[in-house]
Order: sequence, then structure tokens, then C-alpha cells
Amino acid sequence: MTGVICKGIGGFYYVHDGAALYECRAKGVFRDRGEKPLVGDRVVFSVTDPEKKTGVVEELLPRKNTLIRPAVANMDQALLVVTAASPAFHPLLADRFLLWMARQDVPVLLGINKCDLDKKGRGGEIRRTYGSAGIPVLSFSALTGEGLEEVRSALKGKTTVLAGASGVGKSSLLNALIPDSSMETGALSRRERGRHTTRHSEIFCLEKDSYLLDTPGFSSLDAPEMQPEEVRECFPEFDGPARSCRFRDCLHMAEAECGVKKAAEAGLIPESRYASYAVTVREALARRKY
Ligand code: GDP
Ligand code: ZN
Repeated sequence: MTGVICKGIGGFYYVHDGAALYECRAKGVFRDRGEKPLVGDRVVFSVTDPEKKTGVVEELLPRKNTLIRPAVANMDQALLVVTAASPAFHPLLADRFLLWMARQDVPVLLGINKCDLDKKGRGGEIRRTYGSAGIPVLSFSALTGEGLEEVRSALKGKTTVLAGASGVGKSSLLNALIPDSSMETGALSRRERGRHTTRHSEIFCLEKDSYLLDTPGFSSLDAPEMQPEEVRECFPEFDGPARSCRFRDCLHMAEAECGVKKAAEAGLIPESRYASYAVTVREALARRKY
């Protein structure tokens, strides 16, 4: 049989085959080979007890990708949840998350939750900023259900890692998206997800072939180790203004006649994006010196 590892706790791997969840041990051969099954791994497993739903993971199928942060496999995309209300949007955290995902070749969707509370229209500003950075943006309310159909269709047929600071509404979104029927099929149910912070990565089945991975530890992010030139590639909205930089290899930092700095000062590039860029490039340059 084949399935997906939905979570790993205390030496057990919980494998979902599209219909039911099996508690599996991993064969010793993985340890001998130094392989570690990861949440998200597609595996071949054998059933040891069909009643108790237990089994053994026999083989890991080839991975599409392996993320270091979080340590999971086979992610198609990431959904970064932020809010237009409270907790306040933190641009540097969002931009750092985008850098990590770019580094790992994982496309990101930005989800602006709590649009029901957005009286000041802050969501529109976030949407414009990230739209111009080439990031697809969705606005929704996990509470009222507004915009959730678009979220569902963006997640359809994919395995998506869910991220966002505490309090932005990740649990609420999961609960709104996980169908009631998953309880009957033995999939991880909404009940199993407590109101407390997640301690381990866990995959939830939304519908056939659509999975959402809930994972801890995205709230304080350092930047991935990247060269300044790689950081620059992650800010595609700088490309237009960069055509009027005097130097072709301009890093848009201390150079004279920089089109990007001019555009940032004129408000044509969002201030927060230039600030995130500058702080990250400064760190990358400092690393290069040693
Ligand atoms: P998590 O820490 O990211 O999992 O966030 P929760 O799902 O626990 O949500 C944090 C708080 O925000 C809870 O009190 C939710 O009821 C509330 N909340 C979540 N989504 C919405 C929304 O769309 N609108 C409003 N008004 N409140 C929301
Ligand atoms: Zn420049």
C-alpha cells in the first residue's frame, strides 16, 4: 500500500492512504542507511493489523523536495497567513519567510485573514505590495467564511505548508477547511487539533490529493544564508527601477545614482520592502567579509 506520512511522534509514523490513518513503525533499514522518514513523505507500507490500523513503513518513495525549515518533504507551495487587523502585519517577518521559501524553491501564496475586521483597508495595501512582488494574494475571513472558496481552489490538488505568526488564525482556517467527513474516514479530524500552539508538523487531508501541513516555529525568523545577489533576485519589483541604476551590478545600497533607492524614496517601491531588502543584504555582506 502507499500513503503519506501525516505526522511522526515518539517513533511512530502516521500514514494516510487516502481513506484511513495507520500507525506505523519504520523498518530498521532506514536507520542503518541514515535515512529519516519526514512528514510529507510518500511511502510504501504494509498493514500488520487491519483492525487496529497498524503497519510498517517499508520504503520511502522519491522526494520532490526536502525542506530544512520546516523539516518536511514534498511541499508544492506555502500559504503564509497574515492579518489586516490584529496581530499587526509584520513586513520583515513576511519578507524573511519569502526568502526562506525562495531559497527552497517553494512558491508562496499570501493569505490575508480577518478581512471582516479590516475597517482601515490595510489589506489593500498589503495586497498591492505583494502583488507587485509577484506573490498571489488571497483575502478571506476564517470566521465569516468570506473568500474561503478561493482559498480552497488555490489549495486543490496540492500539498501546502501553512505558516504565520501565532494568533493570525491558522487553527481557525484549518477548522474551516477540513471537512466533517474526514472524521468518518479516519483522517485527522478537526477535533484533534487543540487550541494550543502546535508542537509538531502535521498534515491534514482537505480532500483527495489536497493536503495542508500545520507546522510550528515560524514566528522568529533569521534570514537564510544567501549571497547579496541572490537576495536581490527575491525582490522582482526592483527590476524596473534598477534599469536606471548607474552600475549594472548595483546592489542598491551605498552606490551612487541608484534607481531603486530613488524609487523607494519617491514611494514607488514600498518602504517596508526596501527596508527588508537592505537589512538582509547588509547581513549577507557582513557574512561575506569573514
Ligand atoms: P493561530 O494562533 O494562528 O492558530 O490563530 P487562531 O485560529 O487560534 O485565531 C486567533 C484568534 O483570532 C481567535 O480568537 C480566533 O477566533 C480569531 N480569528 C481567527 N480568524 C478570524 C477572522 O477571520 N475574523 C475574526 N474577527 N477573528 C478571527
Ligand atoms: Zn541600484
